[in-house]
Amino acid sequence: MRHIIESLQNLSRNLWWSWDTEAKELFKELSPLIWERVNHNPVELLRHISHDELKARLDCEFGKKLDNVTKRFEAYLSEKDTWASKHVPSLTEKTVAYFSAEFGIHESVRIYSGGLGVLSGDHIKSASDLGLNFVGITLFYKEGYFRQYLNQEGWQLEDYPLQYPESLPLEKVTDADGNDLIISLDIAQSEVLAQAWYLNVGRAKLYLLDTNIPANESHYRDICSRVYGGDQNMRINQEIVLGIGGVKLLRALGIDPAVYHMNEGHSAFLTVELLAKELANGVEPEKAKAHVKEQCVFTTHTPVAAGHDRFSRDMMHYSFDRYLQKNGIAFEDLLRLGSENPSNPHDLFTMTVLALNLSRNANGVSKLHGEVSRKMWRHIYSAESPGDVPIGHITNGIHTASWTSGFTDKFWHRYTDSLDTLTSSQDEALKVLAKVTDEELWCLRYRLKRNLIDFIYRYLSNQLFHQHVYTTYMEADSSKSSKNPLSPDVLTIGFARRFATYKRAPLIFSDIERLTRIINHPTMPLQIIFAGKAHPHDDAGKHYIQQIVEHTRLPQFKGKIIFLENYNLGVAKRMISGVDVWLNNPIRPMEASGTSGQKTVLHGGLNFSVPDGWWPEAYDGQNGWSIGSGEVLDNHEAQNHHDAEKLYDVLENQIIPTFYDRNVDNIPVKWLKKVRKAIATIGPEYNTHRMVRDYTLKYYLKD
Ligand SMILES: *Cc1c(COP(=O)(O)O)cnc(C)c1O
Repeated sequence: MRHIIESLQNLSRNLWWSWDTEAKELFKELSPLIWERVNHNPVELLRHISHDELKARLDCEFGKKLDNVTKRFEAYLSEKDTWASKHVPSLTEKTVAYFSAEFGIHESVRIYSGGLGVLSGDHIKSASDLGLNFVGITLFYKEGYFRQYLNQEGWQLEDYPLQYPESLPLEKVTDADGNDLIISLDIAQSEVLAQAWYLNVGRAKLYLLDTNIPANESHYRDICSRVYGGDQNMRINQEIVLGIGGVKLLRALGIDPAVYHMNEGHSAFLTVELLAKELANGVEPEKAKAHVKEQCVFTTHTPVAAGHDRFSRDMMHYSFDRYLQKNGIAFEDLLRLGSENPSNPHDLFTMTVLALNLSRNANGVSKLHGEVSRKMWRHIYSAESPGDVPIGHITNGIHTASWTSGFTDKFWHRYTDSLDTLTSSQDEALKVLAKVTDEELWCLRYRLKRNLIDFIYRYLSNQLFHQHVYTTYMEADSSKSSKNPLSPDVLTIGFARRFATYKRAPLIFSDIERLTRIINHPTMPLQIIFAGKAHPHDDAGKHYIQQIVEHTRLPQFKGKIIFLENYNLGVAKRMISGVDVWLNNPIRPMEASGTSGQKTVLHGGLNFSVPDGWWPEAYDGQNGWSIGSGEVLDNHEAQNHHDAEKLYDVLENQIIPTFYDRNVDNIPVKWLKKVRKAIATIGPEYNTHRMVRDYTLKYYLKD
């Protein structure tokens, strides 16, 4: 008994379990009810379940399964024969330090907001799988990102439930004497202290800095309250803690990284701390800059202007005065490093510019985004043409195992030894697919969609109850024998992401009459599931949510178009595995990459997207559908109209007829051909194993 509890506790304290189907099932099996209630958090689960209860649930089978999982876990941790040991042995010795303001590793660890965090989470997991010596650096946000709920009017409200270190697998970083390791920072005229935690993510470690300690003045304790919370002042403070604090932490830990990877500009102040150290060692300023540059790589993530942090001269002066004096750096010298136009005395300090100026490599996150970034930042390099701008690209991917539901994982294991084999190359994927019959593939689709619909029914009942619209919604299905108006026989589209306005969530409602006909077609109907959060300050995004919610309540759409509250990693996993088609309709070329569509592929989902981000690289005419071919119109209204027309055309003339075109056994043979094509072409390419290998060989290794 004690042995079993210890094993479970051990497992719960390394997030490796979050991408292992059997490990997850073990926790769920202990108590499916508590597992749901604690948001799939095994540390909480083990705290809530009593010994007697635990005992009652343990049988021989459970013990055997636990032994199995534990053995695999231990083998994983001690594995010496990894991709990195074969291909980049130097990076199994020296550390890659990866800085990111958010990490989306699992829904129970709420230190992420959206795509950037999910990407960081998937990056660190693949780095662990590949065997790199890898640490992540971020902040511990005690309130995380907000929980979304909607009022009766469909307006987004935000709520910030606390998360406690004791409820998470957080370990405290201590010094040689066992005391809390404390980092000292200069912010404005104060000394601000930060303590550090770490999370075990497989073989990698994720360090989290935390200013919420009694020794700090109260407004500094709050620096790390919320992901991207507060005003500009809070923002700069967060970025000082992340960048400068992160470098100081690594130093205190005795880690001398081979490379610092800045994932987005939020952490770019790390270059300033590296520079200060060089100068303190008496290195000439120009040489010092060159040294810093040699150690850093930078990934930019958005062509949207508001996505790049900019601070006023006054704010920079206020926040950095004491730091600069202590380190003997002139204020004007610092400003120049982050200025787009150094001859303009009022120029804002831009974190992206600082990062570009002080890194040896920079990249965008898709081929198209690389091109856009080269145009966007040409002036920084005084380059003649965009082609001369030294910004490359590495296209984003997903951590396949994390995004493959238990059911789908088991499905593929009937035909191959591992998901890694399935996604190792197009040829391998085709070999595996040759063993799968259309009936089996269709069965998978049907089952996954039914799982999603069951989930939605439970989830929505809760949501509608607190919105006080429960009965009006349920009326829609009073004529049916089943209580659930959604049907697994109906073609299902999913749309879920942050409600940034450029993503145009309501585009499909451009022509209500046409959509009404499509949704309510007597033999070929359609249903749509929406989800997504707007940033708390983004009223335009909140209006989009409200518009969609109002549409879901129209009589002709009731029970056929659904909005799910509080999009997060958990809801995302349900949605991407269940829907037939994943819709993405941003204004091109605003979506730097996007990754959510990649998550649907191994579940047999198909992408339907504007050719933006990763999609133009992946789309081959057969593995999904494109909304237009990248036509650019001169104003937003014309563009929206154009794109909406294309969307309806493809939907009505291609997607819907293909889905409902069945053989005698009621199998959509042509549809499944596309599904196979998508699995073979997208699975092997758009994953973080490929992505991290690219980063390693192109950027982490010094040539
Ligand atoms: C994958 C994911 C994202 C990123 O989606 P995009 O397609 O890049 O917009 C955002 N949020 C969650 C919860 C996700 O799982």
